[in-house]
Amino acid sequence: MTDLTLQEKAALVVGAGFWDTVGNQRVGIPSIVVTDGPHGLRKQNAGGEFSLGDSVPSTCFPPAAGLASSWNPALVERVGVALGDESGVEGVGVLLGPGINIKRSPLCGRNFEYFSEDPLLSGELGAAWVRGVQSRGVGASVKHFAANNQETNRMTVSAEVDERTLREIYLPAFERIVTREHPWTVMCSYNRINGVAAAENHWLLTEVLRDEWGFDGLVMSDWGAVDDMLPALRAGLDLEMPGPQADTTHGIVAAVRSGALSEAVLDAAVGRIRALVAKATAPRSADSFSVAAHHALAREAATESMVLLRNEGDLLPLDTAQAVGVIGEFARTPRFQGAGSSQVKPTRLDSALDALAALAPVEFAPGYVIGAHADPELVAEAVAVAERSATVLLFVGLPAADESEGFDRTHLDLPSAQLDLIEAVAAANPRTVVILSNGGVVSLEPWHDSVPVIIEGWLLGQAGGAAVADVVFGTVAPSGHLAESIPFLLEHTPSYLNFPGENDVVRYGEGIFVGYRYYETIRIPVRYPFGHGLTYTSFDYSNLEVARDGARASVTVTNTGSRAGRHVVQLYVSAPKGPVAVPRRELRAFEKVTLERGASVRLTFELDDRAYSHWDVRASAWLVSGGDYEIEVGRSASDIVLTRTVHRRGPKPAKLTLDSRVSEFLAHPVTGPIMSRAAGRTSDGAASLLDMVASMPMRRLMRFPGVGESLSRIGVLMAIANNPAIRGMASWLRRR
Ligand code: BGC
Repeated sequence: MTDLTLQEKAALVVGAGFWDTVGNQRVGIPSIVVTDGPHGLRKQNAGGEFSLGDSVPSTCFPPAAGLASSWNPALVERVGVALGDESGVEGVGVLLGPGINIKRSPLCGRNFEYFSEDPLLSGELGAAWVRGVQSRGVGASVKHFAANNQETNRMTVSAEVDERTLREIYLPAFERIVTREHPWTVMCSYNRINGVAAAENHWLLTEVLRDEWGFDGLVMSDWGAVDDMLPALRAGLDLEMPGPQADTTHGIVAAVRSGALSEAVLDAAVGRIRALVAKATAPRSADSFSVAAHHALAREAATESMVLLRNEGDLLPLDTAQAVGVIGEFARTPRFQGAGSSQVKPTRLDSALDALAALAPVEFAPGYVIGAHADPELVAEAVAVAERSATVLLFVGLPAADESEGFDRTHLDLPSAQLDLIEAVAAANPRTVVILSNGGVVSLEPWHDSVPVIIEGWLLGQAGGAAVADVVFGTVAPSGHLAESIPFLLEHTPSYLNFPGENDVVRYGEGIFVGYRYYETIRIPVRYPFGHGLTYTSFDYSNLEVARDGARASVTVTNTGSRAGRHVVQLYVSAPKGPVAVPRRELRAFEKVTLERGASVRLTFELDDRAYSHWDVRASAWLVSGGDYEIEVGRSASDIVLTRTVHRRGPKPAKLTLDSRVSEFLAHPVTGPIMSRAAGRTSDGAASLLDMVASMPMRRLMRFPGVGESLSRIGVLMAIANNPAIRGMASWLRRR
């Protein structure tokens, strides 16, 4: 790179300020703006400092916890398009999102910003977001790479995760987005992974991201994630944010001069910055957008983000002629987004109270003051309203102060003032509908059984209030499904014993058994399983067919209820017990369908090898073990309706060596029968001597007095087994 001096190059790899990159007028490199994301544009008004309140108005779409419940990539893509347009109009080059970290624990303070506990769902939705944003000529920054699954000590903690767990749970969403959507940038996380800071992690940023997945974009740091830019550059980081960092720039120049940093490494980073800037400054199509149209999209997204958890006696939808009691301050003062770097200033804000009052006779009582202790007068007033109303809509949830970027929760409970209110209102009116506002999962205990209807509203963005009215009165049928399990108890959660770690280390002791993978495998009941979601009609499945090779599965879905509706059909694969532990089932495909009353549709899902694979740590590769796999179609991770079995062949047997175990010799099609016969092994289930020593390496077994001699033919057998060309000899040997 000859057109830039060393000093100029070193200047480019550190931000100019909080939200912009360094430009270079002399050679014509403009500076570009990068800013948050993800569920709206948070572009700060003038002033380079960090501030959360003062940003340009932008549409606040439902944060990821809500949006993910839509299970609708097409919808997420449209939201992405809208975000791209709003960013483009504001001259933003890269929107900092999506956040696709896995919800390892419901306590993570930032779960509202993440999609799911499942990597496929996170990856599909994150990919749709990126597709949408980037289609408008604005870059995405997929974050936070990787294993940033808690806020406690996020800048220093080391996530100790075994490689199989990384490959199967924490990396696949990134992999899917990188390989399919080619995001312009990836943002590395703050934390360490197995002791090495993400920003300095060569394995992560170069070997996996670039060499294996073919990422050709730019890696930027999370804000303040870099300790030392020299090892970071060597690891594959291209841009330190924010800037300026004069020491870093000088340090890079000195290191190149002294030979401590190869200039080629700096050139590579500078090349990626220039490529990014070129993309971000290319002419864009949109130079305006309709605030009203984006608000309408936010409302549509919000209706799809709500999950109808329970609807006893089909109490919903309500008739607009009925008087409803609306109780709960959240109805009037909506909690519609999370706190921290993603907080946007909405263009409008609908409250549920206004939206409901526009449609039906409404009487309101606040019931509580958000964040305050119970107030007996407010409770008495709410109870009086409940007694007078045909139906009660009771709005409860987590106060903003309870969950945020920067810290984790320590329990799952709603504020005690609200728990008391729920019991009092439910006792006063059996037709009580609870509508929840919360970014992370909250416990539905002990009050669950006292109310007939529960809507999990997550955080619904700026049009959530109107969307609640749409769903409650049935203008739109609810169609959200849970993207994360709701446990009975915090103590049941898989990471419970290892969250958030100690002494700056968090051990991912539950391994791949995250979310429903854990609950389903060890059969711990949950209050509501992953994938659950009701609507105002019902769906049934029939005629599941799976291709012999397992590459395709088809099923017919029928709307068996009395009105049109939408439903998410989920396909899980249950792997056979084999050489490694496997979850009871794993989501491998899904599709959201819209069906008129009585209508059917035939869906076909493609299943590639990956759907049947686990990460084989010995070969550092994906591996399909041989055996019978169950293809399961259902309404949730614990409501499987149809199942078919498909047999998959495993890999060719590995070459036998003297280090192979006796069990491997026994499993081998050539040596197994011969050895079994020689040892008098029967098929009646009685254990033979060979079974007792099955786990021994052959070399060890041969050292036992007497054994070596009786196994003297082992070398010959191995040669035959390992050489297909002379395998015919095996039958000859067997006959002897
Ligand atoms: C967050 C990122 C965000 C960045 C810029 C960091 O603290 O972790 O998600 O994009 O700040 O605001």
